Amino acid sequence: MESNFQNIIAQIPEIGEDMHELMIELFPICRSITGNGLRKTLKILKNHIPLEIFEVPTKTKAFDWEVPREWNITDAYIKNSKGEKIVDFKKSNLHVLNYSIPINKKISLDELKLHLHSLPEYSDVIPYRTSYYNENWGFCITHNQLLQLEEDEYEVFIDTTLEDGSLTYGEYFIKGESEDEVLLSCYLCHPSMCNDNLSGIVLLTLLAKHLKKLSLQYSYRFLFIPETIGSIVWLSRNEMNVAKIKHGLVATCVGDSGISTYKKSRQGNTEIDQTVIEVLKKSGDDYKIMNFDPLGSDERQFCSPGFNLPVGSLRKTNPANFPEYHTSADNTEFVKAKYLADSFSKYFKVILKLEENFGKFYSKNNEELPEIDNKNDQVFLNLNPKCEPKLDKTVLYRKIGGAVHNDALTILWVLNYSDGKHSLRDISLRSGIDFKQIKQTAELLQDKKLLKRIL
Ligand code: ZN
Repeated sequence: MESNFQNIIAQIPEIGEDMHELMIELFPICRSITGNGLRKTLKILKNHIPLEIFEVPTKTKAFDWEVPREWNITDAYIKNSKGEKIVDFKKSNLHVLNYSIPINKKISLDELKLHLHSLPEYSDVIPYRTSYYNENWGFCITHNQLLQLEEDEYEVFIDTTLEDGSLTYGEYFIKGESEDEVLLSCYLCHPSMCNDNLSGIVLLTLLAKHLKKLSLQYSYRFLFIPETIGSIVWLSRNEMNVAKIKHGLVATCVGDSGISTYKKSRQGNTEIDQTVIEVLKKSGDDYKIMNFDPLGSDERQFCSPGFNLPVGSLRKTNPANFPEYHTSADNTEFVKAKYLADSFSKYFKVILKLEENFGKFYSKNNEELPEIDNKNDQVFLNLNPKCEPKLDKTVLYRKIGGAVHNDALTILWVLNYSDGKHSLRDISLRSGIDFKQIKQTAELLQDKKLLKRIL
């Protein structure tokens, strides 16, 4: 039978099962922002869609960033003095601080504790922590286990390599009638966790697999990239073509039991924003709409002021708002086939609507120049508007990734909205961050030559 949108919609419950099955297959792989975990993941996706795989060498420049050394891991454990493995990477890859340098030595409990991460508020789960750009080693364990550790001599062993290699990503392009593109992006750098981020990977894989059977007006570009550095690298290599992107969505956290949440594009009123909102309204389900903020996933780069692409993000529970986020509890039980199917259905209906409206809709971005009605208010220009600058080069920022830092949050707000069109007071109102803190941050960023005052 010839495929059309309606008969794919009829298959959505089974597609949910297919997504869940693929998620289970991908779950055990230890992924990171570079390395063999990414290659292995992409190889499995190639069984479903003919992805093109790119390898970008270490030290390749991408705006303010460069591709880091490639990280690979074979084993890691902590043994007590009796030779018993009390923490074992082979049981959960979350046990190792992602991007740990190699280590092999015997240490006291006090020294060991300096390298242990746990979550006192959720004492029976393993947290996920990273240290991509700051050489460090560490283990992540449950808080209960941490409390039970006794004075002893511990053997710590992490068998990793950090060498010149490459950053790997996958891209799949479906050519439609038009050169106008819809960008669908997900990240694949997290180790064994499901909602964040395997759910996005399996959703986009199955979406691509089914879309390629249809005759389409738009062309569709699917990205499977490591988060942050991957979108920055991709944008730096594809800058000439981004004008073709007419609509886009970042798929993250699409498999939990929560209601659908749509985070608008930075422009806020583009066709993709209106289309997603219309689909959610018509679904009859509860949903939530959020304004853009410069936090979260790769929409931070796609919507950095130098690109400002019409890219939103449709997810279920907002990342960090579910307690399982960035822990071992975000597993194959937490994400269910029916929730994945629900997200698939909404993404698919958004695409159907975009196809129906092809050529009918002309959106205009009419942000007005700010009015400054207060002598304390100021307007700055981001001197590094394409993607985020690499902040750890200039200011103390995110030494251990995976947790939330308030100062970093203010910096991201000020940088993203310092486009000459938003004053510091506007940024304070949008972000809910105190004006004084916004102003101090702008002054700090001006000292670091990241901003220039224009009003
Ligand atoms: Zn994450």
